[in-house]
Amino acid sequence: MEIYLDNSATTKVLDEAAKKAYEIMVSDFGNPSSLHHMGMVAEKEIKYARKAVADLMGREDKGLYFTSSGTEANNLAIMGAARSMIKRGNKIITSNIEHPSVLEPCRRLEKEGFEVVYLKTDGDGIIRSEQLEKAIDEKTVLVSIMTANNETGSLQPLSDIAKFKDRYNFIFHTDMVQAYGKVSPEYVPDGVDIITVSGHKVHAPKGVGAIWIKEKVNIKPLMLGGGQEKGMRSGTENVPAIAAFGIAADVAKRDIDENINNMCKVRDYLWNGIKAEIPNVKLNTPLMNSVSSVLNVSFAGIRAEVLLHTLEQDGIYVSTGSACSSNKKNRSHVLRALNLKPSEIESAIRFSFSRYNTVEDMDTVILKLEQAVSKFRKLGSFR
Ligand code: PLP
Repeated sequence: MEIYLDNSATTKVLDEAAKKAYEIMVSDFGNPSSLHHMGMVAEKEIKYARKAVADLMGREDKGLYFTSSGTEANNLAIMGAARSMIKRGNKIITSNIEHPSVLEPCRRLEKEGFEVVYLKTDGDGIIRSEQLEKAIDEKTVLVSIMTANNETGSLQPLSDIAKFKDRYNFIFHTDMVQAYGKVSPEYVPDGVDIITVSGHKVHAPKGVGAIWIKEKVNIKPLMLGGGQEKGMRSGTENVPAIAAFGIAADVAKRDIDENINNMCKVRDYLWNGIKAEIPNVKLNTPLMNSVSSVLNVSFAGIRAEVLLHTLEQDGIYVSTGSACSSNKKNRSHVLRALNLKPSEIESAIRFSFSRYNTVEDMDTVILKLEQAVSKFRKLGSFR
């Protein structure tokens, strides 16, 4: 038995997407820059995927460029946008719950002379526009706020932030990696200038991401070379992964309502079960204002890592926070930003869902969780 609940870290590749990648690797393996027939076949695959990936964002394919990951797309968005605006101003506004692929480029830019303001969230992990109001001014050239947080699932008020564009002239970027295919594209308002996403969070292979840039928004590319992707991202395209991303985006768009409803049912069932069966738990996800793919819960008195490995023995896979930050000593900058106590952070488990999870499986998860938590609490050996 295997119950995979770590879908915010990565997802199983869809069969159709894997098949497409395989076909391209072994048969249609031409370089899209080649002038012959095989090059044209590869080019066609990319063209199809560009439209599908942009479609799932509710955007035109014209401004969409493929990258190697969500991380690269975020680096390009932040550094490319800020550096192209330096003559106009040097202020960047972001939040303290962004993914490291946004925060680290911001820190690099601070060294280059930019001023970066890290907005603080409220207790639900949500940025309030009053915070932005206080920070924004004429010098602000870039605002980067994620659509949904990767650890708690909290959705950010992008429409409220977009309203500031009436008064100020800044580039608005959103890291949509955790919300892509999990919210209707309209959630990201027209005022957003740059959207970044990642393939492996939506059942495409790892190693492919994308950035969408609105017409007339200027970005300086980071990768220089042969001028692929209209010069925005040089380097021979990862055609198998890009084409598979296109298939995954098509399927995600087709099934979006069904997938959201299923994840919502699974998440609510799991939370209600945890609440009913296990005392002293704390919900860290604002259920009324979050993507349905994430549920973050602290189990008082239990070290999350121990719980994770115990569940693993029963084939249940969860996370203790963002997989991307699991090698760092200070594990969760996000949960710290929410003002959780250290004991609540150390006992936090993230369950994250996909189209493949079922309500029936959650009965097993609740049972195994209850058994493990009560066993460790009786032992009382973890603090
Ligand atoms: N942004 C967010 C919110 C993420 O959760 C992640 C990965 O977990 C990324 C960016 C980075 O994406 P990738 O793994 O494709 O580099």
